[in-house]
Parts: sequence; structure tokens; C-alpha cells
Amino acid sequence: MSLFSGFYKKTREERITIAAETRQLSQSSMDILLADQNLSESVAGKMAENHLGTFALPFSFVPQLVVDGIEYSIPMVTEEPSVVAACSFGAKIISKAGGFSSHISERLMIGQVALYDVPNKTEAQAAILAQQDLLLQQANQAHPSIVKRGGGARQLTVEQKDDFLIVYLHVDVQEAMGANILNNMLEAIKEPLAALTQGKALMAILSNYATESLVTASCRIPIKQLHIESHTALETAQRIAKASQLAQVDPYRATTHNKGIFNGIDALVLATGNDWRAIEAGAHAYAIRNGQYRGLSTWEITDEDLIGTLTIPLPIATVGGSIGLNPKVQVAFDILGQPNARRLASLIASVGLCQNFAALRALVTSGIQQGHMKLHAKSLAMLAGAQDHEIDQAAQLLRQAPHTNLETAQAILETIRIKAEKP
Ligand code: NDP
Repeated sequence: MSLFSGFYKKTREERITIAAETRQLSQSSMDILLADQNLSESVAGKMAENHLGTFALPFSFVPQLVVDGIEYSIPMVTEEPSVVAACSFGAKIISKAGGFSSHISERLMIGQVALYDVPNKTEAQAAILAQQDLLLQQANQAHPSIVKRGGGARQLTVEQKDDFLIVYLHVDVQEAMGANILNNMLEAIKEPLAALTQGKALMAILSNYATESLVTASCRIPIKQLHIESHTALETAQRIAKASQLAQVDPYRATTHNKGIFNGIDALVLATGNDWRAIEAGAHAYAIRNGQYRGLSTWEITDEDLIGTLTIPLPIATVGGSIGLNPKVQVAFDILGQPNARRLASLIASVGLCQNFAALRALVTSGIQQGHMKLHAKSLAMLAGAQDHEIDQAAQLLRQAPHTNLETAQAILETIRIKAEKP
């Protein structure tokens, strides 16, 4: 029997012990988890201005997710009930089907220098391209350490858009997300570009539209694995494929479809200390790349399988920003087996597709509310003031009530307490 069976029923300490044994966590990770250690005052105070304290969210664990033939456990930081349970459920089904496959063809970040008042944009464009080698050299001189690490500025491209002549710098940032690296390089070539084009430089900044850091995750689930009865399994697969089609044609659905993907992606991005605003901004821009906002993932039926695919820009880092400062982020990397940036990006895309599968499967079968309400009822019971054993009792009664809201939760709690007081 797997060490993970009945994982969700264990105590927090038991879960930590199992996670530590299975993923060979370091003693320091164990200590951080057991003490639930977060940012120290001195670190938090340096991370952001006007700091008053820290703000906690649950740090959770998806036991088994197979990506490219390797089994991982996934740390997740999320406040939303049912995200971790849904991901674990989806991961179980997809792992049985062989797990996820990932593909990354390149990993470059793009930054831009926007020029305006350029007297002849076409001539200026040609002049920039003629000076490309020198400009790349100037960019690399602004951040020589990334060149020593095997990265650096690789290419310049130029486009005319409206009043602007825009120069794009394409940089290999190795294990970093690259905002500071690119901004340094772009600042260094800003004035030379203005001089070369006889124009004015408006700004020099990284772009979060990371179209050269695309990651694809896919999975192939035998339809018969979707339900014990073959006709229900086929109907479930067909309805998931229909839901995917709906997210391609209706932006109202596409937005929610993608939000479901981000339930998983954000949770892992946050746990690994990455910049989730950057990931969100880039992915939503990618979702509307053809002029209409669409679902980022697709599901289709071929022969006997349901095939899911998700392609998304993921400029993910394993160094830089706050990654080295947050003790829980170090634990997250330990749980993941210290992946490099490419591996981490593959895991994040897989988690997004996994979360999407779990949500669609629930939506087109029992409906999302069934699973959601179970956990939502617990949250409402706690909000109403339920303590310890009262929480499960109140949640259970609340799920049977006609209106699952705070008012009902308060009334139920009152009844429970009155009954408990009676001799
Ligand atoms: P940092 O500048 O924090 O860290 C990157 C540095 O890490 C590198 O310059 C390098 O410095 C060092 N490093 C150590 N090992 C490696 C390695 N193997 N590969 C690459 N670098 C390595 O981070 P980024 O430049 O990545 O910027 C990310 C931060 O910028 C995030 O916090 C983000 O929120 C923020 N930011 C984001 C913006 C945006 O998204 N638009 C805008 C501005 C900031 P060295 O070689 O000198 O040791």
C-alpha cells in the first residue's frame, strides 16, 4: 500500500513525516514545517516597505503527480478550498494513464526599448540591425555575470508600431526570471539607440509577454479510465471535449476555464516564490493572441483516448527575487527535488492542466458545487465561530440545509451548542 493512502486523514505531523520520508526532505525543511516557520521580521521588513507583519496562507501538498515519467509531490499555497483536493484527484487519474509529458523549445526573456520622434523609422530600423553585434555587446557588458553563467543577450529585433520604433532584446537569463537582468541591459542600450535613430527613448523595460518561454504540458487518458461504465466514460470524455470547445468560442467561459487552470498554477508559483503577477499577465495576453480571449488548454478525443494540452508562457525562476529569502520556499524546492527552471516550468504547466481536468470533469458530470460546497460549508462553519469538533458537525448539517450561507451556519451552531448544554 502507498505511504500516501489516506494522506488527507492524517494529522499535520504525520503528513510532514510521510512527505519527509518519501521526498527525502532535509532536516532543515522538516524543522521549518514542524515549527511552521515563516519570514523573520528582519527579512519581511526588507522585502517590502511600511511592513506591519506577515500574512499567512495554507501551505499544502499534492502527494503524487507524474511528469515525464517521474513522480513528484507538489507544494501548493492557496486559500481556496477544494483546489488541493481536486488537483490530487486529477493527478491520481492522470498518473494511472502515464502522467503528463512536457515540452519546452526555448527559454528567452524579451525586453523593449520604445523610441519615438524618429525622423525616418525605416532607415533607423536598418541602422539598428546593422549595429546589432555592437548593441548586443553593450547589453552584455551591462550584466557580465549572466554571460559567465552561460546566458546573455542573443538577438535584437525591431518593429514599427504607430508612432513608435520598438527594439526588442532577447536574452537567455538561465535560472532567473530576468527582470533586473533585462532592465540593466535595456538601460545600457537606451541612449545609444536614441542617438543611432536620432529619436527619443520613452522607456526601457522587460516585457511580461514571454512568448519565447512557452511551455507545453499534455496528457493522454484512456477514456475507459474515466468511469467504471463504458458508456458513462465515453459521455464524460465527450462532454469534457465540448467544454473545451466552449472555452474556445465564448470569452465568458474562457475566463473561468483559465481561472481554473490558474487555481493550480498560482498555488505552485506562489509556493516557489515566483512572481505570479508576471505569470498571470503573460498568460492572459497569450490567451488573446489571435484577437479573441480563449481557453489556454484544449481537450480532444482521438481513438480511445482523451488528450489534453496546455501551452502557456512560463518565465519561471529558481533564483532571484525573494526565492532565497523565504524559508517555506526552500521547503517547496526540497519537496520538488530541487528542480531547475525548465523542470519547474514543466511541473507548473502540468499542474495547470491537471487542475483544469479535475474542474472540467466535475463540471460536466456532478457539477462543481458538490465538491465545493463540502469544503465551503466547513469555511462557513468556521466563520460562524465553530470550534474543533463543532466544525464537522455544523458543516454536515449546513450541507443538508436549503440555504448554505453564514446566517444558516450561525443558526446551526447555536442549535448545536444549545443541545450540547442540555443534560
Ligand atoms: P534578481 O536580480 O533578483 O536575480 C537574478 C540574479 O541571480 C542574476 O542577476 C544573478 O546574479 C543571480 N544568479 C545566481 N545564479 C544564477 C543562475 N544560475 N542563473 C541566473 N542568475 C543567477 O532577479 P531577476 O533579474 O530574475 O528579476 C526578478 C525580480 O524582479 C522578481 O522579484 C520580480 O518580481 C522583479 N521585477 C519584475 C518586473 C516585471 O515583471 N515587469 C519589473 C521589475 C522587477 P549574479 O550573476 O550577479 O550572481
